[in-house]
Amino acid sequence: MKEDDINGFIERNLKNFSVNSTGWNDLIRQMLFELAVGGWNMKNDVFGKEKFGELRCSLYSENEELNVTLKIITDKYSKLSQKTCEICGREGKIRTINSWKTTLCLNDFLDQNPVMEIDNDLNISYRKKTMLNIKDVIKAEVEFDLKTLELYTEASLDRDESFSFSSQNPNYYLLLKTIHDHLFSDDVRENISDLFHTLKDCEICGYKALHENSCLRCGNEAWEDSQEYGEKSDYIKDCQVDIFIDEDDFEKYFKYDRSFEKVTDHQILFTHNDLNEYEKLLF
Ligand SMILES: [Zn+2]
Ligand SMILES: [Zn+2]
Repeated sequence: MKEDDINGFIERNLKNFSVNSTGWNDLIRQMLFELAVGGWNMKNDVFGKEKFGELRCSLYSENEELNVTLKIITDKYSKLSQKTCEICGREGKIRTINSWKTTLCLNDFLDQNPVMEIDNDLNISYRKKTMLNIKDVIKAEVEFDLKTLELYTEASLDRDESFSFSSQNPNYYLLLKTIHDHLFSDDVRENISDLFHTLKDCEICGYKALHENSCLRCGNEAWEDSQEYGEKSDYIKDCQVDIFIDEDDFEKYFKYDRSFEKVTDHQILFTHNDLNEYEKLLF
């Protein structure tokens, strides 16, 4: 098999892949190479795409044996793509951004998902670019569970548009707290005020963010007697280790969240040994 022919096949087919960026190009090149040496007829084009954060490529041949080989190759690269940043090609993982799944390294994830900031003049900004000033908001709507917020200015209302915010992003509750309550309808005004006035200390993350038994900062449930964990301290310890290890990079993303106050006498229950044990299970 001539290397030139394989290279020609690779370059010709690379453009048949509908992907978000160039981070997977090397992966796709390698896959095409393997397909060529695996028996794929290079006269036929190969097509593929990104779906739910992974590389999808389905091929079919009437030769059953070849079909098995093709499937092994495409499955292998689909798995590899789930660990490769779509943008830069470095190590990544599948992440959800505004309910879209995408595979990104930490840097590109933070870059694609900038943190909302609110400054002293009440400007709401992303990457230091102001999108809206809270003083210009004339109407606010919030979902019943208080986890999504829509803000309207006079101009946006004219266009029938709103600025949306979600509790999945840092500083959401800071924003919800900052919006003047007369902008909300009567029925939710009380809910919002209740939420902020009944927050309790979360023994897991150490923020005053516990609302009706679930923490708005770390997402954990408060310990309950009926839980499978025998001891309360074991439950808290396990959750704290999870936060420290931060496998899904949640803490790294929420590093600059200013929604909740820190509890002053918060106790860390895990030791270095606990961490060791946990990491053994994980890696
Ligand atoms: Zn990247
Ligand atoms: Zn918490």
